[in-house]
Amino acid sequence: MHRALIVVLLGAQVLGLWAAPLVDPSYRFTAETFAPVIAALPEPLRAAVQADPQGFLRDYKPLLTQSADLLVLVDKKNELPSDYEPDDLVSLRAPVFPANHGGLKFRKAYLKSLSALLDAAKKEGLKVTLSSSYRSWAYQKDLFQRYAAKDGLATAERYSARPGRSQHQLGTVIDFGSVTPEFADTPEGQWLAAHAGAFGFSLSYPDGKEDLTGYVYEPWHFRYIGVQSCAVQKKWFGDMQQWLTEFHSSQGPVLKAALKK
Ligand SMILES: [Zn+2]
Repeated sequence: MHRALIVVLLGAQVLGLWAAPLVDPSYRFTAETFAPVIAALPEPLRAAVQADPQGFLRDYKPLLTQSADLLVLVDKKNELPSDYEPDDLVSLRAPVFPANHGGLKFRKAYLKSLSALLDAAKKEGLKVTLSSSYRSWAYQKDLFQRYAAKDGLATAERYSARPGRSQHQLGTVIDFGSVTPEFADTPEGQWLAAHAGAFGFSLSYPDGKEDLTGYVYEPWHFRYIGVQSCAVQKKWFGDMQQWLTEFHSSQGPVLKAALKK
């Protein structure tokens, strides 16, 4: 190669004129630096992101700027500290919030989304009731011990969480209706399965996914993660909240650091 051309090419590289193209203009990812971000995704999901990385990054962007507590991973391996308690808990009172028990509390920051969901259900002629919401670490400890004493430890582990591992401690979870498997077949249960996501509520423990979530099907247990998170969960994560929160917990900080200001 002509020496002058080599000098020009080296100069261009130093000046960044010859840099690898960015996957998306909003992030500092090149194809090479983006690949490790999605490497651990289960295969059908990884392939879909690989096919449209820009679409994925564009859809994911709002999840990086929303409140971090919305997608915090709480499961059998990732516990909340015993002293974690949201500082904006408010009581859920009838008639706006038809609670089946007294003393239900939920985070004020997301209360409007809950009332919007209940309003929409009401307009369809449905009576969606609330059976459980925030639980403190200490309350969950008692609850789990009671279940374990009644059904044995192994069985209790399948439907109840040890303290610190319950999403209820977040103050963003609602158990709707009867809290029984039959709830799935009621008009209210079916309406929630179809529409809760439009209000930002995600089903945490879907049918047939015990190997992934650690829990049996709970058609009544919904966690508020935000409307955009629900859309991303559905489009990119096989509608599995567990996959989304696992990904967000490991790669959310990486994506956020790569986001251009
Ligand atoms: Zn629950």
